[in-house]
Amino acid sequence: MKEGVPHIICLFGPQGSGKGTQAERLSAWLGIPHISPGNIFRKAMADETDLGKQVADIINSGHLVPDEVTNTLMRERIEQEDCLMGFVFDGYPRNTAQNDALHAMTQLTHALVIDIPEEESLHRIGERRVCSQCGMTYHLTFKPSKVTGVCDVCGSALTHRDDDKPDAIRKRLDIYHTSTEPLITSFEQRGIVHRINGMGSIDDVWKRVQEAIQKE
Ligand SMILES: [Zn+2]
Repeated sequence: MKEGVPHIICLFGPQGSGKGTQAERLSAWLGIPHISPGNIFRKAMADETDLGKQVADIINSGHLVPDEVTNTLMRERIEQEDCLMGFVFDGYPRNTAQNDALHAMTQLTHALVIDIPEEESLHRIGERRVCSQCGMTYHLTFKPSKVTGVCDVCGSALTHRDDDKPDAIRKRLDIYHTSTEPLITSFEQRGIVHRINGMGSIDDVWKRVQEAIQKE
């Protein structure tokens, strides 16, 4: 691994691949921020900031957050001082418009793609539980709450969201295959794509992620 050189990493993977968890580990290991638009939006909504109110209005009216909003947010985020030695994007870019914006703002050093079969996605997400209050996510097998059905952070009830049921998962997998996967091709041409087998434990996958980063 090169010392003193920024790591600008994107994590890709279908729903249930565990990329959020691996992004957190990369962030801690490399000492660089983990940047997830979803997390930023959820926190902004919980804190009721101007961004949060704007995003809540969009989502409550049944729309997706427009790419321009996400792109602006990401550009402002990576200009902050804690991003000088790099950062880990998780959940960005998701489509061509976001990918084009990314190319204009920075050059990735690594695109990590965590692969798991569809059946595994369905199984893993089916066990996901989300805090009804603060949005913290848990998993019955991989990341259980200390008390069953209760959030460790805020003590509120955990829910099994409709989004985490099979029909909704299949819909999101379709979107991943059609909108996000083609982006990986653009990074393959630059030789920065590392395909990682996402099966096994979080620690198994983490070893593969570290190997991919160290192999430079
Ligand atoms: Zn909570």
